[in-house]
Amino acid sequence: MAGGNAIRGTRVGAGPMGESERGESAPRRRVSYWCANGHESRPSFAVDAEEPESWDCPRCGLPGGRDQQAPPNAPRNEPYKTHLAYVKERRSDADGEAILAEALAKLRAQREG
Ligand SMILES: [Zn+2]
Repeated sequence: MAGGNAIRGTRVGAGPMGESERGESAPRRRVSYWCANGHESRPSFAVDAEEPESWDCPRCGLPGGRDQQAPPNAPRNEPYKTHLAYVKERRSDADGEAILAEALAKLRAQREG
């Protein structure tokens, strides 16, 4: 049995966003934002650019703020779907697939017939 070492190849130190150092060396600074779930995101901005007041958390989508102790609340239009929304979406997905399958079948029948 070849026991796979799945974690091998994980690069340490590479940014999660796949940031890479490019030739251009405009000075940048990192600004920390915290979302209501306590995630910290640290986008970088050009030194002469003003950092935005809030930054959407890349992990959960909630807006993050500069104050770790007082992160902004989730916005009124919740990014998270309710269970019902999920069910509806899944249903319409299935419907769409059925319609597509039907259309394909018809096309195929026409071509062969
Ligand atoms: Zn978050």
